[in-house]
Amino acid sequence: MTLPTEPIGSIPRPPELQSIVQQFAAGQLSQEQMDRAFDDAVDDTVTRLEEAGSPIVSDGEQVKSSFATYPMDGLDNLSPDGVVIPFSDGHTRQLPCLTRGPFRYGQYAGNFLSRARRFASKPLKQAVISASAMSLLYPQTAIADYSQEQFIEDLVAEAVADIRSCFDNGAEVIQVDFTEGRLAVKLDPGKGLLKQFIDLNNRVFAAFSYEERQRIGVHTCPGGDHNSTHSADVDYRELIPMLMDLEVGNFYMQMASEKNPDEALSVVARSIKPNQRVFIGVIDVCDNSVESVQTVRQRIMNAARHIPPEQLGTTDDCGFSPFGDDLVTARDTAFAKIAARVEGTRLASQELGI
Ligand SMILES: [Zn+2]
Repeated sequence: MTLPTEPIGSIPRPPELQSIVQQFAAGQLSQEQMDRAFDDAVDDTVTRLEEAGSPIVSDGEQVKSSFATYPMDGLDNLSPDGVVIPFSDGHTRQLPCLTRGPFRYGQYAGNFLSRARRFASKPLKQAVISASAMSLLYPQTAIADYSQEQFIEDLVAEAVADIRSCFDNGAEVIQVDFTEGRLAVKLDPGKGLLKQFIDLNNRVFAAFSYEERQRIGVHTCPGGDHNSTHSADVDYRELIPMLMDLEVGNFYMQMASEKNPDEALSVVARSIKPNQRVFIGVIDVCDNSVESVQTVRQRIMNAARHIPPEQLGTTDDCGFSPFGDDLVTARDTAFAKIAARVEGTRLASQELGI
């Protein structure tokens, strides 16, 4: 036995896939050619995750435009001028903005599982975007015949359907991406916005049974796009206690790149509830050098000084390329880092007597 260990989600897309996606968008390729390229990328991703020893696998988000935008694929009621998220290196990402109701997802994340299932022999994990991230689509100025309250009603129903589609399509575990949690503390240090996000996501989780919620987890990070972050300057200790009020069984927490992990881990130790497990990030996805197995082992042993082993797991700090066009990290590097995580977790587990 070992401590549970899981990837977060995205694996850098092969450069060939990037160019095929662009050619398809330009109308130069058929749907069949596009599907074949997605099949190849997902097959290779699942195979290499299994070769790296990952006990649970995913499609590495090869088919998603990004971790946050897949529900918007094909929608015709969005304009491109929504909320702007600035990153520490000066680049930005901009969300779209809803122009009229009703709000419906263009697709559910469960769609991605059927392709991954064809190639996987291990249990599958599926990531979904949080309702709180999608809530940012509603414009500052209200839509005339579609109130924010009505939008939130629709959004909760769609976020529930999104998670439900993953269970229905065979996901063993589901991870809700909540990168905007730490960002919320930056935007509103009084934490009103964070509280609003937590309450909204808990409305979604309330639709699931206790057993289902034990298979749902929430991922928190300071962002990880082009090896740059959006909220690493926010004190993690300001986020963690309220984060752990989310009514789910698992938390996937960036920690390897944290400046003072012991401070954060001690707050996790104080905030964790008996039915919760924390998967601690032991791989820094914004650093292109591959961690040694001993570095990983040490990070886990340090986390185990704070958190009981039966409530501990390991993960990467974030996806390796949450946006499909981010090619800063090489695919080989991502798999080498994952293999180091798996092996370091095995070593630490032995030492912890698991
Ligand atoms: Zn992340």
